[in-house]
Amino acid sequence: MKICANCGTQGEEKKTVGGSVLIELGLWFFFVVAIIISRLAGLVFFIAAIAYSIWRLTSAKKACPKCGAANMVPLDSPIGKTLAEKFPVAPEIDRDPAKIFPGSNQKKET
Ligand SMILES: [Zn+2]
Repeated sequence: MKICANCGTQGEEKKTVGGSVLIELGLWFFFVVAIIISRLAGLVFFIAAIAYSIWRLTSAKKACPKCGAANMVPLDSPIGKTLAEKFPVAPEIDRDPAKIFPGSNQKKET
């Protein structure tokens, strides 16, 4: 269990990956096409695709599922406890109908 230092969301981090899977697949597709045409062109796209894939893997990070900030801290840590106090888990909802509908208690005049 972790808490987000940015928005106070409690829960598990979401794994985020940089870049786009479409670009990655596109580069690999162009590599396949290029290697049919020319070995040199294939090599260029191979390097590009490998570099892009490695960059995506290395840029993968765990982030807050709500706001996407990569600064979630363990809830049982001193910082996490301070944050939990700062951000209440479930804000109390006032269920008094008179307050939700201010006019509901008034008598209808005909
Ligand atoms: Zn957050």
